[in-house]
Amino acid sequence: MTTQPNSAEARDIRYHLHSYTNARKHEEIGPLIIEKGDGIYVEDASGKRYIEAMAGLWSVAVGFSEQRLVDAATRQMKKLPFYHNFTHKGHSPVIDLAEKLVSMAPVPMSKAFFTNSGSEANDTAMKMIWYRSNALGQPQKKKIISRKRGYHGVTIASASLTGLPNNQISFDLPIANVLHTGTPHHYRDALAGESEEAFATRLAEELEQLILAEGPEMVAAFIGEPVMGAGGVVVPPATYWEKIQAVLAKYDILLVADEVICGFGRTGNMFGCQTFDIKPDILVMSKQISSSYLPISALLINERVYAPLADESNRIGTFGHGFTAGGHPVAAAVALENLKLIEERDLVGNARTVGVHMQKRLRELAGHELVGEVRGVGLIGAVELVGDKQAKTPWKNAGALGGLVNGLLQENGVISRNMADTLAFCPPLIITEKQVDDMVDAFKKALDAAVPQVR
Ligand code: PLP
Repeated sequence: MTTQPNSAEARDIRYHLHSYTNARKHEEIGPLIIEKGDGIYVEDASGKRYIEAMAGLWSVAVGFSEQRLVDAATRQMKKLPFYHNFTHKGHSPVIDLAEKLVSMAPVPMSKAFFTNSGSEANDTAMKMIWYRSNALGQPQKKKIISRKRGYHGVTIASASLTGLPNNQISFDLPIANVLHTGTPHHYRDALAGESEEAFATRLAEELEQLILAEGPEMVAAFIGEPVMGAGGVVVPPATYWEKIQAVLAKYDILLVADEVICGFGRTGNMFGCQTFDIKPDILVMSKQISSSYLPISALLINERVYAPLADESNRIGTFGHGFTAGGHPVAAAVALENLKLIEERDLVGNARTVGVHMQKRLRELAGHELVGEVRGVGLIGAVELVGDKQAKTPWKNAGALGGLVNGLLQENGVISRNMADTLAFCPPLIITEKQVDDMVDAFKKALDAAVPQVR
């Protein structure tokens, strides 16, 4: 790319190592610099406007220009810009937020614990689970079962829980005590003619076999996203969660629901756990908790988790875990205002009704020659592209078609994200039906433009 030596693009290439980016390719093509946001739109440095069809990173529920969140942050900054919750200290925003989250929980929960990212929250979940097993005198009960294609973050422990190769290759992961079971993706993984229910039964049997092979007394917990997000927006088949939970209950295994994407309305209910009747012992939340205006995440734990943990902290003298910025007062104040907005504006209802429209519009593309599957629920959806519809195989190599269409879509003014050949749609919860139409129309145009390049 040709740029001025001191342009933002050139300085970005010179100084900035990007997340989730091919660093050598970045040296050639440089960044897309986003300067401004407004509702569901963002604008790049050249003034080009985009529909942000990913709500940033599945996160900006209230849109990119919510003054009330700015005001909430400013008020709290002026009053108490920082305080912590170590050694019995507290402050109003964190207490108010803990109370709010416990009261909103889809199942009875005992306490909220605060962290700064989804990864930290899942790391914390793993540590709490191990701590609890030790507290209960079950030091061998340490294995945690996750799923292939599940996404739980990138720290050493959470990247181990994540079931995607790129998060583990060359990082010497996963660590010990993490196991992965099958992905509930009917389109890809069901046998020919297998119903959703039969596929779900087979996945539950696979889980049970894994538990029995390891020894049930060794297995402490199972973690899953109600709908898999970064693994390609995988909506589980009918009866999946019911059958998985029956197996976990049979062997006294804790359930962690990773609601980092689903939480706060995404699936058309406040929590994905409500959409799929999931009853977790630990519920992990982040992203839409503050619309990502500031980093904050949280875990809700029930009494089964809290009571032994509290006893162990009493035995040792402290619960030796916590982050400097965990429950940061400014982030907590913003989260509280954000949750108020989600409720006042009934954004969960909007996700449900506009979600029905988005799912319908996306499914109209199911017959397109490059579309393998359309899936989703509420305001999270995905279109998986294929080179050969019958064989469900990619064009050229995996990810080539997804990258091509995503590039064309961006030219058409929509920012999506391709996970290999699957393009995701996860717009801000404030999106209208008309804006959904604009987004899907631009996507259809990109698909059609790709056809002559592919054939
Ligand atoms: N869990 C889920 C379900 C996620 O989607 C993500 C991020 O996308 C994470 C955890 C990790 O969150 P973070 O990127 O804040 O560490």
